[in-house]
Amino acid sequence: MKYFCPNSIDELHKFLKTIRGLSMSILAGGTDLMPRWEQNKRLMPDVLIDIKKMGELFGIRENENEIIIGALTTIQDIKKSKLIYNEFSSLSEAARQFAGVQIRHRATIGGNICNASPAGDLLPGLYAHHAEIQLIGPNGHRLIPVSDFIVGPGKTVMEPEEIVSEIHLPRKGEKSLFYKLGLRRSMAIAVVNFAVVYNTNPDNSFTSLNITAGAVAPTIVFLKSFSDAIMNGVPLDEAIRFVEKDISPINDIRATANYRRTVLKNVLKYTFRHELADAHEEYEEK
Ligand SMILES: Cc1cc2nc3c(=O)[nH]c(=O)nc-3n(C[C@H](O)[C@H](O)[C@H](O)COP(=O)(O)OP(=O)(O)OC[C@H]3O[C@@H](n4cnc5c(N)ncnc54)[C@H](O)[C@@H]3O)c2cc1C
Repeated sequence: MKYFCPNSIDELHKFLKTIRGLSMSILAGGTDLMPRWEQNKRLMPDVLIDIKKMGELFGIRENENEIIIGALTTIQDIKKSKLIYNEFSSLSEAARQFAGVQIRHRATIGGNICNASPAGDLLPGLYAHHAEIQLIGPNGHRLIPVSDFIVGPGKTVMEPEEIVSEIHLPRKGEKSLFYKLGLRRSMAIAVVNFAVVYNTNPDNSFTSLNITAGAVAPTIVFLKSFSDAIMNGVPLDEAIRFVEKDISPINDIRATANYRRTVLKNVLKYTFRHELADAHEEYEEK
C-alpha cells in the first residue's frame, strides 16, 4: 500500500490525478478505518491518503449566520468548544458521551459523518440542526444537507475525488439536547441515541420541534410523526405511538429491534416529561 500525506487541498487534487484506476482511502483519525482493516485486510486500498496535515480542514469558526466546523476537528475539540456548548448543546453532549478520552482526541467529525453509521453519535444533532456538509472536489465545492449526504449504512453521495472539508451549522438560536443509551456508560456504541432541537415561546410552549433518532433505521431518521403530534396538541401518551411510524429497527449484537423500539419510546417520554417539562406542560394545557 502506498502512503501519501498532502499539505493542502491543491496538493491532494494534483495527486489524485496521478492514481486514477487505483483503489484509495482517505485517512483522518483512523478510528473507524483501522479496526475495519484489522478485521478484514482485503479491504486495504492500493493508496492511503492521510489528510491530517491539511491545515485548512481544522478548527471551529463563526460568522453572523453560521458556525463552521472543519472536517478534521476532533471530537475532543467539539467537546471543549464554548461556542458549540452555548449554541449546539446536543453536539456538545454527544461529544461528551463519545467513546473514551484517547479516541476523542483522535476521532474527527468528518470521519463520523463519512463513516455514515446508523449509530454515529454526532449525527442526530447534525440532522436536527439541519447541518450542511461542504464537499471539495476537482471542480470546486458543493454544500449538501447532511440528511441527503448519507444514503445508507456506510453509504454517502461523495464522489471518488471529493472530500468533506467543512460542516456548516445555521445559527437559529435553538435549544437542543442529546440522549444516548449504550450497553455501558462509556466506550459504547449507541443502542439508541436521539437529539431534540426546539424553540419556545415566552410562555415555554414549543414554537418549533425537531427530533431525530439513531440506531433505529438504516440512517438517522426524523421522528416527524411524533413531533407533529406533539405540536398539534396530542397528549404525550398517545403521541408516543407515532414514533413507530418513522423507525425500522433491526436485531443485532447490541439489541433486538423490539428492545430498541420500546427503549426509544420510554426515554423520549421521560425526556418530554422531565427535561422538557415546561414546554410540554404548557403545550398539554392547550
Ligand atoms: C474504541 C472505539 C470507540 C468508539 N466510540 C464511538 C462512539 O462513542 N460514538 C461514535 O459515534 N463513534 C464511535 N467510534 C467510531 C469512530 O471513532 C467515529 O466514527 C469517528 O468519528 C471516526 O472518525 P475518524 O477521524 O477516526 O475516521 P477515519 O477512521 O479516519 O475514517 C472513517 C471513514 O471516513 C472517511 N473519511 C474521514 N474523513 C474524511 C473526509 N474529511 N473526507 C472524506 N472521507 C473521510 C474515511 O475514508 C473512512 O471511510 C468508536 C471507535 C472506536 C475504535
